[in-house]
Amino acid sequence: MELYIHLPFCRRKCRYCDFASRTGQEALMPACVDALLLEADASGFLGEAVETVFIGGGTPSLLPPEELTRLLKGLRTRFDWAADAEVTSEANPGTLTEKWLEAAVSCGVNRLSLGMQAAQTELLTLLGRIHTPEQAAESVRMAKAAGIRNLNLDLMFGLPTQTESQWRETLETALALVPQHLSCYGLIPEEGTPLKADLDAGRLRLPEEESERRMYEDVRRRLGEAGFVHYEVSNFALPGYACRHNTGYWTRASYLGLGASAASLLPGADGRRSLRRTNPRELRDYLDMVRDKDWARRETETVSPEEARFETLMLGLRLLDGVSEADFLREHGVTLEAWRGPKLRELAERGLTEHAGGRWRLTRLGLDLMNTALVELM
Ligand code: SF4
Repeated sequence: MELYIHLPFCRRKCRYCDFASRTGQEALMPACVDALLLEADASGFLGEAVETVFIGGGTPSLLPPEELTRLLKGLRTRFDWAADAEVTSEANPGTLTEKWLEAAVSCGVNRLSLGMQAAQTELLTLLGRIHTPEQAAESVRMAKAAGIRNLNLDLMFGLPTQTESQWRETLETALALVPQHLSCYGLIPEEGTPLKADLDAGRLRLPEEESERRMYEDVRRRLGEAGFVHYEVSNFALPGYACRHNTGYWTRASYLGLGASAASLLPGADGRRSLRRTNPRELRDYLDMVRDKDWARRETETVSPEEARFETLMLGLRLLDGVSEADFLREHGVTLEAWRGPKLRELAERGLTEHAGGRWRLTRLGLDLMNTALVELM
């Protein structure tokens, strides 16, 4: 099983962010750690084998080192962590300290995911990030000195005012920091964010679609040259460093999410992975739910067999390896051919999908037109 822990604390809200995180609730950090451990106690999965742990947010690196230690040690005693478990924490430049890193590494964190985003101060300011490019480089140095040997950097392209040469400079700056993994996300302006309001009001403009496409091409070409394997639409890793936790999401493994807004996908009464439950989004509501042990305040949904099949296909096609026909049959009791064969072949004739080695995957063109392909498969 995979374990996800959500820490919804941020020092300042980035202008593009609609994640479940808030500023000014630092005083609730000890109560949040208490609640996470109580939720684990009541999860029904005490003692369960755990292969990957992901501490996300929010900004986990804002948690005081002693609270991080209490959280991680508490989780270790409640679950059976594999000796080679991949334990990732997100962190942000400008918040990372040597003490925090020391606590994280001594409690088993062996992978760090750092929100670098861009190499230009003006773009970081436009995004509302709290750090400078220099602080990102310093954070990488500190992480390596603390013993982190598996480092991801998050980068963003398709930003307002961002030029193609700025994006290439961001890629080169990131590569010079020698990470093992890079996540390169195209900006999606989310409703309700200040950045979306600026775009809607015409105060900012996104790059032309063609320009954004060339930025994505640049990533694929440059990271390929640097020895990175493109293994998911937005993710690139040196051989052996693909994120195991996220690969679990894309292959629809079971996961248990703890914390405000955290979602879980668990075996239902029928033994299929059909139970999806989501905790209250706001921290105070989450803390109240745990205090009252009123688990009915979670949103709970049964994923129908048809929805589960579509999730397997939709998530699996994000992977460059695609979807295994054998795994699909094992999980869903029906062949991919019987369920969507004609449509997949029709898309293949148009150059969007291909079939090889018992797997269906998107082609290069299909990755560019992924939304079209997925809508047609629905
Ligand atoms: S640091 Fe991350 S979670 Fe926090 S506001 Fe920025 S993007 Fe959102």
